[in-house]
Amino acid sequence: MEIKVVKFGGSSLADAEHFKQVADIIKADPARRFVVPSAPGKRFSNDIKVTDMLYECFELTRNGGDVNAYFPKIVERYTSIIAELGMNFDISGELEYVKNAIMHHSGRDYAASRGEYLNGMILAKYLGFDFVDAENVIFFRNDGSFDEDKTNEEMRRELKKHKYAVIPGFYGCMPNGTIKTFSRGGSDITGAIVARAAEADLYENWTDVSGFKMADPRIVKDPCTIDTITYRELRELSYMGATVLHDESIFPVRYAGIPINIRNTNCPEDRGTMIVPGTSEYDTKHIITGVAGRKGYSVVTIEKDMMNAEVGFGRKVLEVFEDDDISFEHLPSGIDTMSIVLETKSIEEKRERVLTRLQKAVRPDSIAVEDGLALIAVVGRGMVRAKGTATRVFDAIAGADVNIKMIDQGSSEMNIIIGVEEHDFEKALNAIYSEFVK
Ligand code: ASP
Repeated sequence: MEIKVVKFGGSSLADAEHFKQVADIIKADPARRFVVPSAPGKRFSNDIKVTDMLYECFELTRNGGDVNAYFPKIVERYTSIIAELGMNFDISGELEYVKNAIMHHSGRDYAASRGEYLNGMILAKYLGFDFVDAENVIFFRNDGSFDEDKTNEEMRRELKKHKYAVIPGFYGCMPNGTIKTFSRGGSDITGAIVARAAEADLYENWTDVSGFKMADPRIVKDPCTIDTITYRELRELSYMGATVLHDESIFPVRYAGIPINIRNTNCPEDRGTMIVPGTSEYDTKHIITGVAGRKGYSVVTIEKDMMNAEVGFGRKVLEVFEDDDISFEHLPSGIDTMSIVLETKSIEEKRERVLTRLQKAVRPDSIAVEDGLALIAVVGRGMVRAKGTATRVFDAIAGADVNIKMIDQGSSEMNIIIGVEEHDFEKALNAIYSEFVK
């Protein structure tokens, strides 16, 4: 039988109305067997997420304050959900326990994790599903890193015992039994872990948008939704600043080759975006999958006559950056020039030292640093097959009267990276988007 793992974000579980929508979605498909909830998120724009309220409680106790005055706000979030759902479920004992544990210094991660824990209990009860505490199936090592193998083994064993279950997101357990959370937004990781252990056919990630957009809606007006994207493309776009699912948060399913479907709880009829391990099919209408970019880059350009014949030149240059713990993004080079593109903030306080050390290391004819560069990545698996994509990108940028400062095409031919001046960033991005999405 098909297995789907479904993760619901905080906005999808912010109140009783959303709980009902979520239950309808889950019950509509018997394959939706394992459910991973976040803590209740914002109900309106200046509302506070339960996770943030719990962090606040922790801060209060740490600073010697009294949680009793603040905690009722959290109690109210959960009890109103239970009451409005008409459930016969008394969660007051659990809430009291959590409050006392926070007051007795159970730790920051413990406090934060209770948002998911309590929400998971309510959701399990409401759905009539089993509740599997993440504390017993998600493990960290002593150094705080995630113990993937142990988790996969234990999670797999546990899931076999349940036909339908709710596993709260965001947290797991340290070897000494204390609670540890993933980084913020970490329920996405829990969902991916459960999907891998369940050998799911699909990991559905339900949120409040109908999938990923081809470009940032704050820059491009009303961009189209991406229908299908590969893991590689997702990584390229999220790396370049697209606010899509963070590629790091889905590594368990990526390794297992499980597709992810981003769906909208408020519009369950929308297909959303499919993230797949690989496909030779592509969007033949648009050719590109998406375009994203970021400001805040600098280029260090080194010139030296006959550089191309000097064995070890590149290594010596890169060693200077490595020794100062600076990672670079791109390395466009000419016959006698080498450029290192890096984030401006990574070099900010080290600039003088790096330049002096470069002088010493390779005795160049000149070195120049230019700030204020923006990088734009045009990403698409279809670019390998469709001829003339690069020409179209460059023509579009020229047509917008923007000067290109740098070009880098990955050898996979899946992306073209263009450097422009920061003040041309929005103009260039719009020009590229309109060229491919008419
Ligand atoms: N509730 C946690 C947060 O706000 C984790 C999550 O929602 O994924 O970051």
